[in-house]
Amino acid sequence: MNDIIIIGCGPVGLYGAILSSLHNLKGIVIESLNQIGGQLTSLYPEKDIIDLPGFDKIKAKDFISKLESQYNSKENKLPIHLNESVLDIIKEEDYYLVKTTLDTYETKTILLTTGMGMFSPRLIGLENEKEIKNIFYSCSDVSIYKDKDVIVLGGGDSAVDLSLLINKVAKSTTIIHRRNDFRAQESSVRKMSEEGICILRNYSIKGIDQKEDKIRLTIKDNETLKESTLTCDNVLVQYGQIPSKDSFPVEKENNLIKVNDYYQTSLPNVFACGNIVTYKGKVKNIITGLGEVSLIITRIDQIINPTKNIPIHF
Ligand SMILES: Cc1cc2nc3c(=O)[nH]c(=O)nc-3n(C[C@H](O)[C@H](O)[C@H](O)COP(=O)(O)OP(=O)(O)OC[C@H]3O[C@@H](n4cnc5c(N)ncnc54)[C@H](O)[C@@H]3O)c2cc1C
Repeated sequence: MNDIIIIGCGPVGLYGAILSSLHNLKGIVIESLNQIGGQLTSLYPEKDIIDLPGFDKIKAKDFISKLESQYNSKENKLPIHLNESVLDIIKEEDYYLVKTTLDTYETKTILLTTGMGMFSPRLIGLENEKEIKNIFYSCSDVSIYKDKDVIVLGGGDSAVDLSLLINKVAKSTTIIHRRNDFRAQESSVRKMSEEGICILRNYSIKGIDQKEDKIRLTIKDNETLKESTLTCDNVLVQYGQIPSKDSFPVEKENNLIKVNDYYQTSLPNVFACGNIVTYKGKVKNIITGLGEVSLIITRIDQIINPTKNIPIHF
């Protein structure tokens, strides 16, 4: 029987695994993707993070590598199962069954660090989109855009951050947003103009086709309704992710898990933290999730070992 099963191996689940080793808890981590790191490695690996303690700036993927190396330094590390998705958790008398795409596991406690959930990218929605070569929905390696004409679609943080990164290596970068106002940090939007990125606001994408290695986009000005075409080498779509709904039987609000002051969900001994939770004053960033998980792992150690003098420093 496992002491703990951690569901989701983003930064918060991974740090939960490190702390579980320090507390000598036995368990496993289950991650549906083929890599650890959650949003940092899937959505913005090349972005410089500047709000983590101890780093002037660090690329998202490098921060995950640092956590991974800390995880690997532990002899009693919790095995991480990649490419395995948790489908359901089932309460038994005084333990839980965790049902996955591959197996069913028994555990005394559960930690849900499922972030945005299992997600897939939102497509443009054009009929022939899937037949087009060189259209991408995530960016794990900016160097593929070197000396290319690139069009980024979207108006949120990831579209803007990635446009700025791509522009450092691309021949030209154009960002097309369907609205006037970007949903990204104002300073980053300003930086796009300063760095020569072509910004097209209030345009919809009406068509896409391919001529040899070039992509041709038909766009429509939403005000004048005039259509025009643009040619490029690559299109990067950043319309966000569509989370697939999990069926975990815990109380939720707007699809986020409700927790009490100890980050316990509506089920006993099932805890949740990181981007998946909601409570008054919740902030969805890395450092908040890391703080939450440290409280939870201490609490779980108390539950598993009620007579132990639980360490708070190591
Ligand atoms: C573009 C962008 C820039 C950002 N920049 C910053 C920044 O500069 N600083 C900062 O502090 N924060 C930043 N954030 C926010 C930060 O990424 C999140 O706060 C953080 O990723 C939350 O971590 P998490 O572990 O809770 O969730 P996630 O990173 O979402 O990880 C959850 C993991 O759980 C897995 N999972 C989900 N459901 C299942 C299941 N049923 N079975 C198995 N596995 C499952 C997912 O595949 C995923 O790997 C940014 C976010 C974005 C989108």
